[in-house]
Amino acid sequence: MVDEELIELLVCPNCRGPIEHRSEQQAIVCVGECGYVYPVVNDIPHMLVDEATKP
Ligand SMILES: [Zn+2]
Repeated sequence: MVDEELIELLVCPNCRGPIEHRSEQQAIVCVGECGYVYPVVNDIPHMLVDEATKP
């Protein structure tokens, strides 16, 4: 399980916008300006621009 309280503290490292956890996609999605998608690996969010999928 990903810690939802931790998720609430996170912001997008690229644009500092809000993020959303998509548990069915195992991903963290920026819902701010950039829309980058960050992977969740073994329940650990990888909030790194280098690992993000760019839209
Ligand atoms: Zn962003």
